[in-house]
Amino acid sequence: MTATIIDGRAVAERLRKHVSERTAELARRGTIPGLAVVLVGDDAASQVYVASKTKQAAAVGIQHFDFRLPTTTTTEALIELVRDLNARRDVHGILVQLPLPKHVDADTVLAAIDPAKDVDGFHAVNAGKLVLGQETTVPCTPLGCLILIREARSNLAGLRALVIGRSNIVGKPMAHLLLQHDCTVTIAHSRTRDLPAICGEADIVVAAIGRPRAIAGEWLKHGATVIDVGINRVDAGGGKTKLVGDVDFETAAARAGAITPVPGGVGPMTIACLLVNTLNAAVRAAGSTGVATLNALRPEEG
Ligand code: NAD
Repeated sequence: MTATIIDGRAVAERLRKHVSERTAELARRGTIPGLAVVLVGDDAASQVYVASKTKQAAAVGIQHFDFRLPTTTTTEALIELVRDLNARRDVHGILVQLPLPKHVDADTVLAAIDPAKDVDGFHAVNAGKLVLGQETTVPCTPLGCLILIREARSNLAGLRALVIGRSNIVGKPMAHLLLQHDCTVTIAHSRTRDLPAICGEADIVVAAIGRPRAIAGEWLKHGATVIDVGINRVDAGGGKTKLVGDVDFETAAARAGAITPVPGGVGPMTIACLLVNTLNAAVRAAGSTGVATLNALRPEEG
C-alpha cells in the first residue's frame, strides 16, 4: 500500500480563507481582531516563527502588535506587559513566544495572561477545561493535527489512537482531543516499553517527540493514519541540511493509509489554528455582533 499524503499546506490555506472571511465580517461590525506578539531575546528560530505568524495574521486581516524585548527582560517586566495587554480592548489574543530566556519564569508569565486572550491555549484554566471536555481554546498544534486526522478519517469513534510524546503543548492536549472524539487513547513517552508493539495496534499515530525518523514504518499497522509533528534538522550531505519528521517517511508511507509529510504537514496548520483562535477570541470579546466563532473542525458551518 502507498499512503495518501495529507497536504497540510492546502488544508491550512482553506482554513485561512475561512478566517479571513469571518474577520472581514467582524471588522464590518466594528471589531478588528488584534494579536499581541511578544518576543524576548534573539533566538533565530523564534524570530522566524514570529515573522511568519505576524505575516499570516496581517494577510487574513488580523492586526498585530509586536513587542520585541531584549534578552535581559525580567519576569516582572514581562508580567507588567502582559497585564497591560490584558487590559487593552484592541488586543484579543496574547502570544508570548517560547522558549523564554532561562532566567525568566515562563510558567508565571503564561499564568498572567487573561485566559480569554490565551490564543495558544497554554493557560492552566484552558488546559483544565480541555481535560474536563468543556469548550475552550485548544493549543494550535494539536488542533491542527486533529483537523488533519479528520481529513483522512471522518469518524474517529472507537479507533485506537497512539500519541507519542507527553509535552504540555502537544502530546497531552492531543490525547485529550482524541479522547473527546471517542478514540481509545494511549500516550507513549521516553519511558514507554516496547513502543513498536504499541504502534502496531494503533489506527492513528501522532508522533511528537523531536527525534529524527525515530518511528519506523515497520512498526505501523497497515492502513494507519500517521501524523508527524516532529521538526528535526538533519545533515543532508554536501554541507547542506534538511528538515525531517519523527517518523521515517519512506518506510511509513509504504505501510500507512495516510501520512503527513515534513515539511508541509502539521507545520502550516499550527499558524492557521493560531489565526482561528485569535478570531474566536475577538468574536467572544465583541459580544453579540451576529458573527459566530469559527469551528475549525467544521468551518463551513455557522
Ligand atoms: P518535548 O521535547 O517537550 O517533548 C518530547 C516528548 O517526547 C516527551 O514527552 C518525551 O517523553 C517523548 N519522547 C522523547 N523520546 C522518546 C522516545 N524515544 N520514544 C517515545 N517518546 C519519546 O517536545 P514537543 O514540544 O512536544 O515537540 C515535539 C516535536 O514536535 C519537536 O520536534 C518539535 O520541534 C515539534 N513541534 C512541531 C510543531 C509544529 O508546528 N509542527 C509544534 C510544536 C512542536
